Amino acid sequence: MVKENLEEVERRVAAACERAGRRREDVTLIAVSKTKPVSAVREVMDCGVADFGENKVQELCGKMEEIMEPLRWHLIGHLQRNKVKYVVDKVYLIHSVDSLRLAKEIQKEAEKCSVVCPVLIEINIGGEESKDGIPKEEAVSLIREIAGLSRVQVRGLMTIAPPVEEPEEARGYFKEMRKLFDAVRAEQIPGVEMKELSMGMTGDFEVAIEEGATMVRVGTAIFGNRQYAV
Ligand SMILES: *Cc1c(COP(=O)(O)O)cnc(C)c1O
Repeated sequence: MVKENLEEVERRVAAACERAGRRREDVTLIAVSKTKPVSAVREVMDCGVADFGENKVQELCGKMEEIMEPLRWHLIGHLQRNKVKYVVDKVYLIHSVDSLRLAKEIQKEAEKCSVVCPVLIEINIGGEESKDGIPKEEAVSLIREIAGLSRVQVRGLMTIAPPVEEPEEARGYFKEMRKLFDAVRAEQIPGVEMKELSMGMTGDFEVAIEEGATMVRVGTAIFGNRQYAV
């Protein structure tokens, strides 16, 4: 079933790229495997997907150790400073940097293992109180500060759009993100490489692609609904 789901998502990704006049290879599909077993990850991996997203450090490290294939693991959830050391030299990209304190911790741990850690800056585009991420007005100044850290490389922006009834309602948020992305890029901050715009999930990934997402993070549409312990 996961295989059929993935084929359907792939078809929708390709169609959205086509509508937007974009090339399929310019959009990375990240399969979000949180709460799902390693067997499900393998199923998707066997279909040729190499990018996987997890939102918890412990679960990410557990799966990574068990699977051992050279997959690209994306940390997409909130990262606590005391857990940076477990992921800094293992993940392909951290999507959720939203403070200088966190970036400084990444710098410190990256230094210890002699790596440079690629990150995205998380933006709270809907200005929701309950959400992680910084207000868009603070993006340029935070990125300028992080650019001074030699082992933290800013590669773009990430957002989780506010929940909406219809995917179309998310379009405005994605447009704002794209504008912000272009504005940060125009600053040409030394050491910052604005390449990735991570936005779009099961409910809204097609609209996100139409508005310029270079990475979409899709869980439910691939793996089915998640069961959380109550
Ligand atoms: C869970 C999660 C996703 C995927 O959500 P779906 O709606 O299941 O596709 C994407 N991004 C983040 C940050 C998540 O935590």
